Amino acid sequence: MRTVIIGAGVLGLTLAYELARQGGEVEVLDARESGLGASSVNAGWVVPSEAAPVPGPGLIMKSLKWMVHKDSPLYIRPSADPAHVRFMLGMWRRCNARDFRSGFQAHLQLCESTNDLLDDWSRDGVVYDSYAQGLLMAFANHENLEHHVGDLDVQASYGLDPQVLEGDSIRQVEPALRQGLAGGIFFPHERHIDAASFTAGLRKRILELGGTITEHVRIDRVERVGDTIVAVRSGDRRFTADAFAVAAGAWTGRVTDLFGVPLPIRPGKGYSIDLVPAPVELRTAVNLSDAKIAMTPYAGRLRLSGTMEFAGLDEDVNHTRVGAILRGPAGYIEGWQTPASAPQAKAGMRPMTPDGMPIIGRLPGTTNAYVSSGHGMLGVTLGPGTSHALADVILGKGYPPRLLPFTPNRFVRKVHRTPALTPAS
Ligand SMILES: Cc1cc2nc3c(=O)[nH]c(=O)nc-3n(C[C@H](O)[C@H](O)[C@H](O)COP(=O)(O)OP(=O)(O)OC[C@H]3O[C@@H](n4cnc5c(N)ncnc54)[C@H](O)[C@@H]3O)c2cc1C
Repeated sequence: MRTVIIGAGVLGLTLAYELARQGGEVEVLDARESGLGASSVNAGWVVPSEAAPVPGPGLIMKSLKWMVHKDSPLYIRPSADPAHVRFMLGMWRRCNARDFRSGFQAHLQLCESTNDLLDDWSRDGVVYDSYAQGLLMAFANHENLEHHVGDLDVQASYGLDPQVLEGDSIRQVEPALRQGLAGGIFFPHERHIDAASFTAGLRKRILELGGTITEHVRIDRVERVGDTIVAVRSGDRRFTADAFAVAAGAWTGRVTDLFGVPLPIRPGKGYSIDLVPAPVELRTAVNLSDAKIAMTPYAGRLRLSGTMEFAGLDEDVNHTRVGAILRGPAGYIEGWQTPASAPQAKAGMRPMTPDGMPIIGRLPGTTNAYVSSGHGMLGVTLGPGTSHALADVILGKGYPPRLLPFTPNRFVRKVHRTPALTPAS
């Protein structure tokens, strides 16, 4: 059984690894080098505790307030493009407690076994930097803390052991925090990994298992016979397989369009900045929850990540927003000095969906093409569980019920076949 996977980010590579490990033949294709998309820029958090969908109660008011600030953590570029308007309306429709909690539970089921999978993959020889130090959500604002405490029953029911810390007791977990914060929530079982080492480790293990990774091929056409996809093409190069999977991150909508199935995945841009050496030693990963900034401690450096921009499909860096990320810790960390010269920031586009949930499963109108994308802010957290389950589907081992909420069918009314090629064309 040969599978061609389009996209060598964390979703494409974890799927290739799961298939190769079960004896499948795999080839991963990427328009650039592998692991360069959002999968290289992320904060590396493996955090089921934070696996809530983006649309939630209160988001509409917050986003309207943030839209007028140039350095706010959320930016929605005004646009009359019907796809953008449909996407935003779809997202706002889901900003209610019922959808939020059911989406959260669906995510938690998908990533329930993530830590076990990661341990298993490590034993199998996937080598990467991993830190099991927990996650601390820190709040400067009491209302924000209370808002989060209201949903802790969801995390508690999945054994995530949330610990609510009032006021300065948060400093017992993370002494680097300043006095006078509202408090925090500590999740002791969460981990973080180093993004680049994770994709590099997966890549190496896939090659050892006999898989192929072909870089610098941008897929621009699809060949089909009826509902069966027979090949994908990049210019003159042709890649045949029994099954195809699209894991092209923020570009996924464009690629599935080639398969006749346009999916509503739009980019949500964010930035990461590595401070070397680390200006503060943190015991744990810290979410500056009101400012929406992630602080991730690694050996010898500190990564700051943040911002969600709904704008163009590009990786340009907005230095005003990067400046806000660099200043953000001052409200939380004792003695924080904002770096005088901005170190190199990297931009990455999260693949976002209107309901804040990934799209995983067989593409409608095809017998043998699949999609694994739209993981938004959670690709590292949900990636292992997603790929473990989807590999079963592709290999014909059954359809894990936990994938049901993520079916592509929820977004597809019509399949078009016109742009596809037949093998002879
Ligand atoms: C600042 C930031 C912080 C984040 N922090 C976290 C975190 O702490 N925890 C977490 O779980 N998630 C986090 N995320 C989200 C996570 O990084 C993403 O969900 C995840 O990386 C998406 O992976 P992907 O494989 O779908 O996409 P990508 O990593 O973007 O990979 C897609 C690949 O497809 C390729 N491609 C596109 N089009 C084509 C084509 N036509 N032909 C061939 N190849 C193509 C691209 O070149 C790219 O390499 C963060 C994201 C950002 C931006």
